[in-house]
Amino acid sequence: MTLNIGVIGTGAIGREHIRRITNNLSGGKIVAVTDVNPEAAKSAVEQFKLDAVVYPDDKSLVAAPNVDAIVITSWGPAHEASVLAGIAAGKYVFCEKPLATTAEGCKSIVEAEIKHGKRLVQVGFMRRYDRGYEQLKQAIDNRFIGEPLMIRAAHRNPEVDDNYTTDMAITDTLIHEIDVLHWLVDDDYTSVQVIYPKKTRHASSHLKDPQIIMLETKGGIAIQAEVFVNCKYGYDIQCEIIGEEGVAKLPEVPGIVYRKEAQLGVDLLMDWKQRFIDAYDRELQDFIDSIKATGEPKGPTSWDGYIAAVTADACVKAQASGVKEAVTIGDKPAFYQNVVHQ
Ligand code: NAP
Repeated sequence: MTLNIGVIGTGAIGREHIRRITNNLSGGKIVAVTDVNPEAAKSAVEQFKLDAVVYPDDKSLVAAPNVDAIVITSWGPAHEASVLAGIAAGKYVFCEKPLATTAEGCKSIVEAEIKHGKRLVQVGFMRRYDRGYEQLKQAIDNRFIGEPLMIRAAHRNPEVDDNYTTDMAITDTLIHEIDVLHWLVDDDYTSVQVIYPKKTRHASSHLKDPQIIMLETKGGIAIQAEVFVNCKYGYDIQCEIIGEEGVAKLPEVPGIVYRKEAQLGVDLLMDWKQRFIDAYDRELQDFIDSIKATGEPKGPTSWDGYIAAVTADACVKAQASGVKEAVTIGDKPAFYQNVVHQ
């Protein structure tokens, strides 16, 4: 059986997902597309030679009887309405982050999905499908390094444009660490504080860069996450777990080691799209395969989308206040207790 998919939003990542579902993955077919700009939707159909209908809006695409699943890749503020429409129609939903732009919006999605009675939604937190993070999780789960005590993480981009604002360091950048770090240690955040080191001269006048975000978990793990989006030298994702009996570190991206002109070196990536390209393939393949095998997706849940939104809100509050702010998540509903990702 082929999973018939409709794509809402045919911009950059929408087209990337259309390309991978059409050319790289198995078991899924793009049968419908829509975009606020109908010409963009039409051009995506032409670009990928799709046998797909262009719908005028998300509601009509969701209602199409041959659409089994929707992939939401429109801009963030439009996600919530499309996800809720998908759930109301009983369609499977793969939603790029953010699930909704507010914690309340994510909560209403959680409630709608629980009321529906079956898991329908997967959120596009693709780092959980990166092989390096998977290995790190295995090392933590089997207590190879003992109980995790501390985490040091860094998210560095070579540069950002002038539209990038201080809060986007949380909502666009740290959001991936927010998701993957609590998943790695299977714990919830309880507090956050943000401090600003000396500012780089490469940041625009309105942007605070770098930033250090210090999170604590219910179990007492202390996390120090750095966001530095004008680091100049490359796109660099670091993660180190310090445990009672050892340390486990995210592997470096493999590359040829050069010896030249009295130097030993490896090329670094400059473009974030390349870093997790394999993980994007694997998350969508898992979405398709899990639905076909079990009737439910098993990737990051609506509850994970809610955790990310609540934590991001507290981080943004801490950016402004400079003091420790509480992260109040609440208990995971039983509905989401037994979801096994990998
Ligand atoms: P983008 O290039 O601006 O694409 C968004 C597309 O959706 C545009 O064509 C936009 O049209 C269209 N759109 C906006 N509102 C819509 C609506 N109500 N219905 C249908 N189409 C609508 O942005 P992008 O970079 O692809 O990002 C899309 C989403 O993916 C964002 O939420 C972003 O955060 C997320 N994302 C996630 C990752 C990741 O690492 N997981 C990476 C990149 C992006 P107009 O251009 O005419 O407004």
